[in-house]
Amino acid sequence: MDYDPAWGDDYEYPDPLSGSAQYRAPIRFLDLNAVDAATKLAPNFVLSEVAQDWKGRYAVYQPHAVERLQDIRDAIGGPLTINSGYRNISYNASVGGASSSRHVYGDAADMASSLADLEELGELCADLGAGYIGYYSSHVHCDWRDDPLEPAFYGSAFAPAAAPKPEHRARLVPGPTWTAPAEGWDEGRALREWRRMTPRARSSPRLGATPSRRRRAPPRSR
Ligand SMILES: [Zn+2]
Repeated sequence: MDYDPAWGDDYEYPDPLSGSAQYRAPIRFLDLNAVDAATKLAPNFVLSEVAQDWKGRYAVYQPHAVERLQDIRDAIGGPLTINSGYRNISYNASVGGASSSRHVYGDAADMASSLADLEELGELCADLGAGYIGYYSSHVHCDWRDDPLEPAFYGSAFAPAAAPKPEHRARLVPGPTWTAPAEGWDEGRALREWRRMTPRARSSPRLGATPSRRRRAPPRSR
């Protein structure tokens, strides 16, 4: 179902980390009161293993993360215990999770198994393209933060991460160029410049952009 601001603080997502679209707030959630907890998500996983209503009645858990959990289970040949899957914002805060923890984005799992030690599980996560792996005494945390977000929860891949803030807007500096300073983003110096349209360009309306030739890298995520 669609996100509803009436859900309050429990679902108040932070601004995207470093402006990254990978950290945009979900726009749709599963209502766990309306879906059978025993719903099969993969051959050996059901919904209640990755989302429980006491960690948030409305939940997000992405299919690609379920696929990776199944892959890990297949590799170890038996049960894989998921200690933590989806957490809503307030539950995540209550257990001391980072405010941009991937648990609130539905592509993280804290896992353990009697069939493999934590290091082996972490290595399997790495082999399966995990974006981040963290070792704890009782479990290993793996998430797939760099994988494309599931459109059913997040909308189009081309949706903006957040409305641009005033400091992200281009400014006309004296002379013919507009500059968009990179303030507020983890990108270092300004990356882009636009030439003001000339009168001739105005009659065939195209914005004349001049690439800066500077190498660009996406913001780093933690
Ligand atoms: Zn975790």
